[in-house]
Amino acid sequence: MRQAPRGRAQCPRRSAPESWARALGLAAVVVLAVGAACAPPRDDDLFGITLDVRSTQTWALDPDLRRRVHDLVEESCAHMGLDPSLLYGMTLRIEDGEIRCGDVAHARGCTWREQGIIAVSTLAWISIEPRVPCVEDTPIPHELLHVKIADEHHRDPRWDSAEYWVPLFERATRPDCSGDAPTLIW
Ligand SMILES: [Zn+2]
Repeated sequence: MRQAPRGRAQCPRRSAPESWARALGLAAVVVLAVGAACAPPRDDDLFGITLDVRSTQTWALDPDLRRRVHDLVEESCAHMGLDPSLLYGMTLRIEDGEIRCGDVAHARGCTWREQGIIAVSTLAWISIEPRVPCVEDTPIPHELLHVKIADEHHRDPRWDSAEYWVPLFERATRPDCSGDAPTLIW
């Protein structure tokens, strides 16, 4: 689904059943299963998340942004074992400035679990670097781990573990992204 959301290439063909009676029964099941597994995501399907784009970056205004956010959230949830239905009703804000997050005045992302708000910035982690070139380079996966475990002071060893983040980074990154290895922000 992730790499070919509109295609049918990933829908596997089932092997031929052994008898007609069995064929009819299996055919019905297969049609249902394939229909459910391969239906393209609805245009508004972001796991019930409201996407609040307050950025003027070109990529943030691209009509493809929703699909890319969808895929990034889907991949991140699968990676960290976060049930995406828990995101229903939350707001994901993408903005261009620094974000005040608790004691941190210049954060690049923040999660307010009680209010159901995630905010990420298009600013690079180091302020002299250009802005991130794609949504996959924002700290959305990092913030989703906050949704799962809270841990606002980053005491869990996963936060700065390359071993933990690199597999997700490699799956989620796209050709127009920076290609930088993930860091604590990710
Ligand atoms: Zn954090």
